[in-house]
Amino acid sequence: MSIAICPGSFDPMTLGHLNIVRRTSRIFERVVVLVMVNANKRSPMFTIDERVDMIKRIVSPFPNVSVETYDGLLAEYAKRYGEAVIVKGLRAGTDFENEFQMAQINKTINPGLETMFLTSSEKYTFLSSSVVRELAGYGADLSDFVPREIIDEVLAKAQGGKKNG
Ligand code: ADP
Repeated sequence: MSIAICPGSFDPMTLGHLNIVRRTSRIFERVVVLVMVNANKRSPMFTIDERVDMIKRIVSPFPNVSVETYDGLLAEYAKRYGEAVIVKGLRAGTDFENEFQMAQINKTINPGLETMFLTSSEKYTFLSSSVVRELAGYGADLSDFVPREIIDEVLAKAQGGKKNG
C-alpha cells in the first residue's frame, strides 16, 4: 500500500495545509497527518491533543486520511511504515531552503525515505499558522484562512489567551 506522511505542527491547521492533505489523499492510498511535537517552537496556541482533535474533525470526510502524533524524529517515525513517503507543501519564499535541508537530513538518518513536495496552491502560498494566530488575535474573519470546522475555536483561543495574558 502506498502511504504518505504529511508532517507539521499544525498550530492550527490552515486551508493551505488542508489543500496539501487533500491533494495527497488523491495520489496515495493512505495518508497520515502527523502532528509533530516540536520542542524548539515557541509556546503553542493549541495543545497536541487539541490539534489532533481538530484535524480529525477536519479530515473526517476523507476515508483514507488518519491523524497521529509523534514526539521524536520524523525519519525514525517513518521506519514503522517501510515504504512511506513524506509529502510536504512548498510555499513561495523561505520554504525551499529549510525543506531541502530537512529532506537531506532525513535521508541521512533513514536512507530509504523519500520526500516529495507539492507546490502550494496560489491562494495559500503566503498563508501560515503564524499569520492565522496573528489575525485571530485581532478577531479577524478567518474564513479564507482556516477550515470552517475550527474557526470558532481559533478565535476563542486567541481571545482567551489575551484575557489571560
Ligand atoms: P508552519 O510552517 O506554518 O508552522 P507547519 O510546520 O505546520 O506549518 O507546516 C507543515 C508543512 O505544511 C510544511 O511542509 C509547510 O511547508 C506546509 N505548509 C504550511 N502552510 C502551507 C500552505 N499555506 N500551503 C502549502 N503548504 C503549506
